[in-house]
Amino acid sequence: MIDSHCHLDDWSTGEERDGILRQARQAGVDGFVVPAVSPDNWPEVAELARTVAGVQTAYGIHPHYLDRLGPGSLETVLAELERFLPGAAALGEVGLDRRVARDGGERKRQEEVFLAQIGIAQARLLPLIVHCVRAHGRLLELLSSHRIERGGILHWYSGPAELVGDFLRLGFLFGFGLAVGRPQASKARAALRAVPAEALVIETDAPDQPARPGERNVPAALAEVARIVAEIRGAPVGEIVELSDRNLERVLGPIPRCGGST
Ligand SMILES: [Zn+2]
Repeated sequence: MIDSHCHLDDWSTGEERDGILRQARQAGVDGFVVPAVSPDNWPEVAELARTVAGVQTAYGIHPHYLDRLGPGSLETVLAELERFLPGAAALGEVGLDRRVARDGGERKRQEEVFLAQIGIAQARLLPLIVHCVRAHGRLLELLSSHRIERGGILHWYSGPAELVGDFLRLGFLFGFGLAVGRPQASKARAALRAVPAEALVIETDAPDQPARPGERNVPAALAEVARIVAEIRGAPVGEIVELSDRNLERVLGPIPRCGGST
């Protein structure tokens, strides 16, 4: 099964990473979509795809890391981003996050960087991997007026169930991880139940999105994600895994596998 969203580059030494990968394969995870988040980790993620079997990449500027863009113009950074895109499955992780945007100026900056990257994705016919926190209404406006032909993935979907149909019409899948099982996540569970089978994907977002805040998540936890999602939807675990892999490859294209146990 494929982890549709994890940050394997966060395990910086080869030895640490080998342990994490071994553990993931033992849990049946044999494919990993690794979205890079800022110019300083694009080369690292590219290197990962060259050296680790079963890794597919995406590259983008995540709204949390706008302060890492440096003093040069946005155009320069975007030109650098384009160098990494050949061979990538998607553009991302990109998006809007009102939890970190402290004022109107920072929101505007997030939108500027997001829209510029939507333009690149559309020009290259790439799908988008989107991060969105407390801005789903605005996200829907922007994606409705700047269509992405190949759609994409709304990873860690935390928007309302009522918007699922609108994002679905724009060609987006909905990613869910361990957070959907947290006791207070009733809104996310309602959204998960509202997502049709052909738009569901599972992810760990490791090392982020642990079952309990403060812990460190790992890609092997995808097996647990599949179990939780299956329970919430009242479906067999095997069916959830099959759906997720199929939906993911329909939108991102074929994901290489490293020959795990499933
Ligand atoms: Zn992420």
